[in-house]
Amino acid sequence: MAEIYDFVIIGTGSVGSAAGYYASQKGLKVLELDVAVPPHTQGSHHGQTRLIRHAYGEGEKYLPMLLRAQKLWDELQQKTHRDIFHQTALLNVGRQGTDFIENVEKSAQKYQLPYEKLTGDEISQRWENFNFSDDYVGILEKKAGYLNSEIAIQTYLDLAQEAGVDQRFDSAVQSIDFQDDIVVIETAQQVYRAKNVLVSAGTWVKELLPEMPVQPLRKVFSWFDVADNRLNEDEGFPAYAIEIDDEQTYYGFPGKDGTIKIGQHTGGQPITHRSQRTPYGDYASDKEEVLPLLLQYLKGVGSLNHGASCTYDQSPDGDFIIDQLPGHPNVQFVTGLSGHGFKFASVLGELAAQKAAQEEITTDLSAFKLNRFE
Ligand SMILES: Cc1cc2nc3c(=O)[nH]c(=O)nc-3n(C[C@H](O)[C@H](O)[C@H](O)COP(=O)(O)OP(=O)(O)OC[C@H]3O[C@@H](n4cnc5c(N)ncnc54)[C@H](O)[C@@H]3O)c2cc1C
Repeated sequence: MAEIYDFVIIGTGSVGSAAGYYASQKGLKVLELDVAVPPHTQGSHHGQTRLIRHAYGEGEKYLPMLLRAQKLWDELQQKTHRDIFHQTALLNVGRQGTDFIENVEKSAQKYQLPYEKLTGDEISQRWENFNFSDDYVGILEKKAGYLNSEIAIQTYLDLAQEAGVDQRFDSAVQSIDFQDDIVVIETAQQVYRAKNVLVSAGTWVKELLPEMPVQPLRKVFSWFDVADNRLNEDEGFPAYAIEIDDEQTYYGFPGKDGTIKIGQHTGGQPITHRSQRTPYGDYASDKEEVLPLLLQYLKGVGSLNHGASCTYDQSPDGDFIIDQLPGHPNVQFVTGLSGHGFKFASVLGELAAQKAAQEEITTDLSAFKLNRFE
């Protein structure tokens, strides 16, 4: 009879790679399965970087997880000396009184995060490349910044391997079944058995769990040449999340190594199959979607250098889905990360490992349950 793992992780990209490492530190016998070899360009984690905002426009319910996530990223960096987190500061901008800006400020106040509130004019005085009128406000988070997502995943996978975790990449899980309390996981090559399972399969989770209310969304980001040195990270330019007219949200990173990466969080194309995630440039909008930002609000950005396509696993309300399968509490899933999940990967992995180890979970996850869609 084949070995029964304590914990099998299906999908070891952002959340799954973290879960594997934290579970290994609890002495669990862990197996990591992935259809590809992470980090890779077929999931939601490529393109080098992801923002980590702390004062959260998406709502206060994220704050306890977020603060723990940052602590774990810091620990990972200290432990490995790898280039994971850049504390560049992060500027949130929106019109005064919008939900986004109110949520950012409320959560900064409630959790005593260091922040500075700036008028549109003050933003433009401090960074001349920004151009905002005084009906916009900025909340500058000094301790936020960005994460090197691919380096972080590689780091978690390396640590897990060193700790003795079994890793089977290029192994697509085809089905999950049950034999009493044991979960049976089938790949094209082999059948595995587990006491606990985490499904962290990203965009295509419905291939394994069809009941998940997740819509895959094709998204792109673009790299532009830096035409003005003041946009660079080493000149003190911050990361940013900007909501224009209470409608379109853009985000970006300070310039580095000659390019500056910019994306639009809103928009994108709903898709139903992997083949529909076509390369950057396939839609005319790919190269145009950040133009409203560049034409009016952010100056000094040069020509388009290159772009990439990616996917969001969009939940109906844009909030995460963190739960266990009804009737099968030993199968956890983390999905619906809706284009803002990377910053949480560390803490979501830690929580999954705690659940697999039957530890008490003190973080309030009630806002993220699947049954809110019933
Ligand atoms: C353009 C873009 C910009 C973003 N910007 C930000 C940002 O600034 N800040 C932020 O916090 N978040 C951001 N995000 C969101 C963030 O990157 C995602 O929420 C996060 O990476 C999702 O993590 P995951 O573990 O769910 O998925 P992934 O990292 O994609 O991992 C899923 C893994 O599951 C594997 N898999 C799938 N199916 C199977 C199967 N059947 N068998 C085995 N393995 C399988 C895949 O190969 C993959 O490795 C952005 C996303 C995109 C696309």
